[in-house]
Amino acid sequence: MSDQTTDLSLAYIFHHHQLLVDENFQLPKVEQLASDLVFRSGDQIIARDLFIEEDIPEGYQLVPIRQLIAQWTKIQFEQASRALQLLEWRRNHKFCSHCGHETEVHPREYAMVCPACRYHQYPRVQPCIITVITRGQDEILLAKNAKNTSNMYGLIAGFVEVGETLEEAVTRETLEEVGIKVKNIQYLASQPWPFPSNLMLAFKAEYESGEIVLQEEEISDAKFFKFNALPEIPISGSIAHAMIEHVIHNKKMPD
Ligand SMILES: [Zn+2]
Repeated sequence: MSDQTTDLSLAYIFHHHQLLVDENFQLPKVEQLASDLVFRSGDQIIARDLFIEEDIPEGYQLVPIRQLIAQWTKIQFEQASRALQLLEWRRNHKFCSHCGHETEVHPREYAMVCPACRYHQYPRVQPCIITVITRGQDEILLAKNAKNTSNMYGLIAGFVEVGETLEEAVTRETLEEVGIKVKNIQYLASQPWPFPSNLMLAFKAEYESGEIVLQEEEISDAKFFKFNALPEIPISGSIAHAMIEHVIHNKKMPD
């Protein structure tokens, strides 16, 4: 059994939102450390933070995780985002939020446990709605985020508030951001999104009434575009891109 000590694990090694990969965007194999987060024990996949004082190994590079959407399959990207979120969660729960004592890592579950008061802290996801709105047979509402410096037009999105249904969140966000009312709200699909720990819930809706009035802190421009005259839209691999393709070309939403 002597070779067991040399067993290597595939590792997600993050530095902030960047991931260590080789030139073919493949993960490194490393020896497992006690401080690693064991990600899927059967497959020996681990996750850890890269500290800035460590050197980047020869032949490897740090790549922003968003960039890997285009390089990797959906499953690979989702696994990486899960690793990133679990690491961030562990880093942000070193102390008990109930009594302030230092926490310990639960041996089997994803939980940070307080040895003093036994309070368990689990990873949380934040539900976030994203809506594609159509008008008539050939128009789509696209909006430009005020913080976005590019010329990209995206969809209406926002966090679900406490005590709200998903459909209420769609209605409220649309009214707040662009001042219009929507009808026939229908669920389409979901996508985990690790910036920081969101679950994107995609809906489609139809324009009902009202003139576009921008919420200027959030949206710098919004209008209905003809399907055959779209501006720059979100990149392929994002749920927004799939939603736009779905309403315009009737493409199936990814599972
Ligand atoms: Zn405690």
